[in-house]
Amino acid sequence: MKIETVEAVTFRHTTNTVRDSDGHGHPGPVSDTKSCLLVITCGDGSQGRVICRTGDVREALLERFVRPNLIGQDPLATERLWYAVYKWQRLSGGEMTDRALAAVDLALWDLKGKVCGQPVWKLLGGYRPKILAYGSTMCGDDLEGGLATPEDYARFAEWMIGRGYKAVKLHGWMPPVPGAPDVRMDYRACAAVREAVGPDIPLMLDPHHFYSRTDTLWLANKLAELDYRWMEEPMEEASISSFKWLTANTDLNILGPETMTGKHWTRAEWVKHDACDLVRAGVWDVGGIGPAMKIANMAESFHMSCEMHGTGAGNLAVALAIPNTSFYERGLIHPFIDYDEPKEYQNRIDDEMDADGYVHGREVPGLGQDLNMDYIEANRVND
Ligand code: MG
Repeated sequence: MKIETVEAVTFRHTTNTVRDSDGHGHPGPVSDTKSCLLVITCGDGSQGRVICRTGDVREALLERFVRPNLIGQDPLATERLWYAVYKWQRLSGGEMTDRALAAVDLALWDLKGKVCGQPVWKLLGGYRPKILAYGSTMCGDDLEGGLATPEDYARFAEWMIGRGYKAVKLHGWMPPVPGAPDVRMDYRACAAVREAVGPDIPLMLDPHHFYSRTDTLWLANKLAELDYRWMEEPMEEASISSFKWLTANTDLNILGPETMTGKHWTRAEWVKHDACDLVRAGVWDVGGIGPAMKIANMAESFHMSCEMHGTGAGNLAVALAIPNTSFYERGLIHPFIDYDEPKEYQNRIDDEMDADGYVHGREVPGLGQDLNMDYIEANRVND
């Protein structure tokens, strides 16, 4: 069996999230937006699919870098196909991004699951059939009754515990919210949440990403006093030296790197240089499931946890497959948004959570996405 076609389908749907001037998502009025479905099809009709952003896999990129490396090839050779596409990144002038590579890899893994008749999380190792989720909040805002005050965060954390979450992660206030960035504002929200949920709920913080070393260290030490589980990305991650200094100077666990480029190679450097206590991998950050599995296995070899970044079927598949992870990140969530409501292009969301806080691996071939293909076809647009 060979791969015959690679197609990107752009389609229209609605969203209830708006972006602020720094790019952070917040609740907003319903508006039109577009997404993309990458589809890789084999001769027997088997299809691997993944939803991505419209900019991730443009037609010119598919024609130049993806189709020449995939069409006519064995769909089960995910590692070889990843390398074939990856090697074009160097000479693509930045066009072949890690997100594009990730989209191709995720669609290939979905296809592999369909061809084999198995869920991807089992093909990768199938360590557990379900995993606890942490509720990952949106960034703070200045919306009345939203996430505008420490008390708002505390009230929402109590709601999360009632919903079943066994762990909570805050995203703090970031510009352009008035007063942000400010480590003391972050600390007050973190303290209010600890007070609200009690001593036994694991808590984490993802603050402003451009603090100084001294601000970061102050915040880290205060979070250690509150028994926070970890803090992630408080400074520009290109500076390994700064994270090595931070990790050496605080008792708080530091998780990273999240958005730093370089895939598994960068994560290995961070571990070698003691720049983190826990390793971060997100399938959309590191170029797909293949590199994420390498990062998880590398971390395991150093007795370190690998915490998956971000929501969705790909990250869930890896989290279910590996032994050395704590939680699945579920979000972003906010008091004004019903996270459990499927989007128009979904029959079910990727990560339904039960009342005990577990997200379950689906017993279906592929990544387990349940897409409404009729909706996607009916709402196709030319991008
Ligand atoms: Mg983060």
